[in-house]
Amino acid sequence: MGPSIWESQMLQASPQAPLDALVVGGGIVGMNAALTLASREPEWRIAVVDALPLGGGGSTRNAGFTCFGSPSELLDDWRALGPEATVELVRMRWEGLQALRAMWGDKACGHRTCGAVEAFTDEALFEEVMEFLPELNEALEDVFQETAFHTTPAQSSTLHALCGQLRSPLEGDLNTGTMVQAMREGLERAGVAWWPGLKVEEFTDAQGLWTAAAGPLSVSARHVLLATNAFAQDLIDVDVRPVANQVLVSQVMPGLKLNHTVHHDRGYVYVREIEGRLLIGGGRQWDCRDNDEVAERLTAWAQRHVVGCGPFQVAYRWTGQLGIGSSRRPEVKTLKPGLHAGVRLGGMGVAIGTTVGRMLADLALRNPA
Ligand SMILES: Cc1cc2nc3c(=O)[nH]c(=O)nc-3n(C[C@H](O)[C@H](O)[C@H](O)COP(=O)(O)OP(=O)(O)OC[C@H]3O[C@@H](n4cnc5c(N)ncnc54)[C@H](O)[C@@H]3O)c2cc1C
Repeated sequence: MGPSIWESQMLQASPQAPLDALVVGGGIVGMNAALTLASREPEWRIAVVDALPLGGGGSTRNAGFTCFGSPSELLDDWRALGPEATVELVRMRWEGLQALRAMWGDKACGHRTCGAVEAFTDEALFEEVMEFLPELNEALEDVFQETAFHTTPAQSSTLHALCGQLRSPLEGDLNTGTMVQAMREGLERAGVAWWPGLKVEEFTDAQGLWTAAAGPLSVSARHVLLATNAFAQDLIDVDVRPVANQVLVSQVMPGLKLNHTVHHDRGYVYVREIEGRLLIGGGRQWDCRDNDEVAERLTAWAQRHVVGCGPFQVAYRWTGQLGIGSSRRPEVKTLKPGLHAGVRLGGMGVAIGTTVGRMLADLALRNPA
C-alpha cells in the first residue's frame, strides 16, 4: 500500500517536481541550514523533516547553557588538542552564541547573561587549574577582549562544601523551548515546509536527484542536508555515536538562591536554576550501573553543594543523545554531489548549532547538484 494521492500531493516533491533542498533533522542545525538557504535562495522549495513530532534530539532536550567550556574542561582540551585548537574551539562557541542571540534576540530565547561558576571538590584538580589559569586567560583574551575566568573566594552564598571556585561573567543560560519555537516560527515565515513524523530510512540518487524514503512516503530533492547529529550513523558512515545524557529538574524550591550557572568536574556535571527549580544534569564520567544511580549521585551532589537545595523532589527527568566522535569539532562536509552532512555537535550544540547550520547550507549553495 502506498500513500494517498493527497498525501503525495501535500509533499509536492515527487521526482517530477523535486524540492530544491530536503533537510533531514529539525534540530538547531537543520533549522538554521534551512533558514540560511531560504534567505540566500528565496525561490528554492525547501522542507525540513524530522522523525519525531517535536524534534527529539539534543535541540529540544538540552539544558539551555550558553557555555563555551569551563576552565577544567578547557585544560583537558588544551592537553588533548593543544593551545591553538582549544582557542579556536572556544572562538567557534562564543561567535556561535553571538550569532544565535543576534538572529533571534535575547527575549525570544529567554537568554540571560548570568555568569557561571566552576565548583571544585578535588583539591589536586583545583591546584592544576589555578596554575593553568593565567595562560588560559591570556590565550582567550583575543576571543573575549576581556578576562574570561576570575578567581573567587572558595565559599559563596550560593554554593558550599567546595575547595575552590572560579567565575566567568560571560556565560549565560536560555529557555530551550522558546528558542526552538522562535526557530520554528522563523521557518514558517521563510516559507520552509516543516514535516514532522517522517523518519528517513534510506535515500537513493538517480540522475542528479536524491529520493528519501520514509515509510510509504518518499520525497525527492536536488540537495539533501543531513542534520541528524547523534543518529547520523543510521544513514551514513561517519565518526559520530550517540551518548545518553540525563537531566533532572526539581519541584520549586523556595530556599534556592542560585543566580548563576554551575559546572563541575570538567563540564561533566552542570547545574542551573529554572523558575525557582533546580536543574542538574550529566554525570556520564561516573561509572554508574544505570540511570537511576546517576540520578541518585546528581541529586546528592546538589543537596551537598547548592545552598537552599532541600530534598530533591524530581518534577522532570529525561535523557537526550549527544553526538560524540573522536574529534571535538563538528563534521560538516559534502559526501556526494547533492548530499551534505553537518553533525557531531557534542555537548555544546546550542553554542555552535547556528554556525554549523550556516556552514551546512553553504555546502549546498557552493556545490550545485
Ligand atoms: C541532555 C543534553 C543536555 C545538553 N545541554 C546543552 C547545553 O546546555 N548547552 C549546549 O550548548 N548544548 C547542550 N547539549 C547539546 C546540544 O543540545 C546538541 O549539540 C544540539 O542540540 C544538536 O543539535 P542538532 O541540530 O545537531 O541535532 P539534534 O537536535 O539532535 O537534531 C537531530 C534531529 O534529527 C532527527 N532525526 C534523526 N534521525 C532521523 C531520521 N532518520 N529521519 C528524520 N529525522 C531524524 C531527530 O529526531 C532530531 O530531532 C545538550 C545535549 C543533551 C542531550
